[in-house]
Amino acid sequence: MKTIGLIGGMSWESTATYYRYINEAVRDQVGGLASAEVILNSLDFSTVVALQKADRWDDAGVLLGRAGAGLARAGADCVLICTNTMHLVADKVAGMSGVPLIDIIDETATVLKADGRKRPLLLATRYTMEHGFYSDRMAAHGIDVQVPDAGDRVAVHEIIFSELCQGVISDVSRKRLEGIVEAAADRGADSVILGCTEIQLLLKTDGLALPGYDSTAIHADAAVRFALSGRKPAIRDATTAAV
Ligand code: GLU
Repeated sequence: MKTIGLIGGMSWESTATYYRYINEAVRDQVGGLASAEVILNSLDFSTVVALQKADRWDDAGVLLGRAGAGLARAGADCVLICTNTMHLVADKVAGMSGVPLIDIIDETATVLKADGRKRPLLLATRYTMEHGFYSDRMAAHGIDVQVPDAGDRVAVHEIIFSELCQGVISDVSRKRLEGIVEAAADRGADSVILGCTEIQLLLKTDGLALPGYDSTAIHADAAVRFALSGRKPAIRDATTAAV
């Protein structure tokens, strides 16, 4: 079995889910007492958020890249950035880590394409919904990402940072997100991406107005496939990524 390296803590609420999903998948696929070989580098989220707010993405890339390099030195065979938002600096992290980076956007796109989805609604942080790195990478897979309107984008971002990343689960917020999914269905979206790794704490993928895709589960599954089979995932190869 290969060793999975997790750059986590963004937030730790979702990193805990990654750890559970990865180990449940290994248990289900291998059986017995088997569990995943995982190394976790869990960052202080307040430091990362301060860099996000200051628009210091280069510095954030170096911070995560050092974390990835540390995981590789400790024996990780791959690294995962356990957040969609910080894939904004995925090239930097891949370059500094020196081991394959399993990319949450590519993996999500692969699953959407297999199901024939072309116009997914994206629920995510404002950085992920507005910066362009996410929709551009999806567009390269032929997927046309839809985002909520401006007021709803603010609401989703607030729910993520003021509630979910702090362990607060609210029925009012769940209904708010469900309403945003309904509005997107009316506007022609064909699916919805839970494109922030904490959203699975609030919304399940079934029972929504659109078929749901949980980026956390998809990313964790990809890591387990890599660990168990050596299958080549849709990685950013350290030799091709910009350093
Ligand atoms: N975990 C979240 C995501 O998937 C947001 C936290 C962050 O800003 O990294 O985007």
